[in-house]
Amino acid sequence: MHDQQLATRASELKPSAVRELLKHSKLPGVISLGGGIPAPELFDREGLELAVSQVMSGNFNDAFQYGLSEGYSPLRQSVSELCRLRGVNCPAEEIYITSGSQQSLDIVARTLLDPGDVVVVERPTYLAALQVFQLAQANIQSVDTDDDGMLVEQLADLLTTTKVKMVYLVPTFGNPGGKTLSEERRARVVALAKEHGFIIIEDDPYGEINFTETRWKTLYQHAKELGCADQVIYTSTLSKILAPGLRIGWLVMPEWLAGKAIIVKQATDLHSNSMTQIVTAQYLALNRLPQQIALMREFYHKKGEILANALREKLGDHIEFSQPKGGMFLWARFRYEFDTTAWLSKTLANGVVYVPGEAFYNDAPDKRTLRLSYSTVSDADLVTAVERLAKSL
Ligand code: PMP
Repeated sequence: MHDQQLATRASELKPSAVRELLKHSKLPGVISLGGGIPAPELFDREGLELAVSQVMSGNFNDAFQYGLSEGYSPLRQSVSELCRLRGVNCPAEEIYITSGSQQSLDIVARTLLDPGDVVVVERPTYLAALQVFQLAQANIQSVDTDDDGMLVEQLADLLTTTKVKMVYLVPTFGNPGGKTLSEERRARVVALAKEHGFIIIEDDPYGEINFTETRWKTLYQHAKELGCADQVIYTSTLSKILAPGLRIGWLVMPEWLAGKAIIVKQATDLHSNSMTQIVTAQYLALNRLPQQIALMREFYHKKGEILANALREKLGDHIEFSQPKGGMFLWARFRYEFDTTAWLSKTLANGVVYVPGEAFYNDAPDKRTLRLSYSTVSDADLVTAVERLAKSL
């Protein structure tokens, strides 16, 4: 009876079979290649303790008081410096602190989308972005990807028949595919935005976790050069490079959007957590983050290699994949017809879990795919995990 009392947008949300299975990943002895979370040993305990103690002695009242919806000013200032180094050159006034980039996506969706509006995503894409767009009752359309990210010409074809409101991209070391959009495609997608008037959401949680010397321009930077920066919304987060429990992310929004989006933020939570904003501002002022990021690159790079080498050796005849060049994920695909969702209960019985690729598709899932995360697994367990996968075939 209560089903009828649910809002349509909530009743249409589907429970995830994968989530249910992954609950078992906490069982003793199970190695999880499932979660996409940072390695806790990389949390900068010393730096964070210092920042917290400074806040307790110096900013106690502000830390426990209500704050501004736009965010804590010194934090906006240091985030604008972080952004500048990434090629997102904007004043602190254009930076809005959010409770993680997940909230950034939600705020943007609620500010911009009417039910039925077309949102284009990569196939596959970040699962929780799909949930945000589903809750906004958007008409979600997927465009295929290859090793260089979204097939932008496929998007160009879609634009000839469809009015697209927004394109959501994780252009650098994406989740789940680990793919990076080539420079040429970056320029092209921004040019298409200018021509057709759609908005781009550039979601960039992993760009700093780069195992290579290559640097890509942000879509925001391309748009600035092309004179359409008012069509790109950039969001990023400290979740992957500092600590996700802080829940500190941010949005870079053009002026036409920011005024309304801030009201949406107010309606949601008034403002992000004062305490963690101020702790983060203190932490950033210690200038320890660059060193942390350097450590992290090395740490994840090594793990990505261990996993890739083990997979090549033990499962190379069965699956194909590209070696991760950054981020936390290895995306693999069986060389033959295979259902990775069905396979999960078997691998679980052998003590290893992963995320079946199906979870990351809005439609027409490729059941041969799977996402393997190497971020929190010890080197030895990465090898054991692959042996267990091989045994499950
Ligand atoms: N976008 C992508 C692509 C992600 O992978 C994640 C975290 N898994 C988020 C956004 C949300 O991160 P947070 O809210 O912790 O900043």
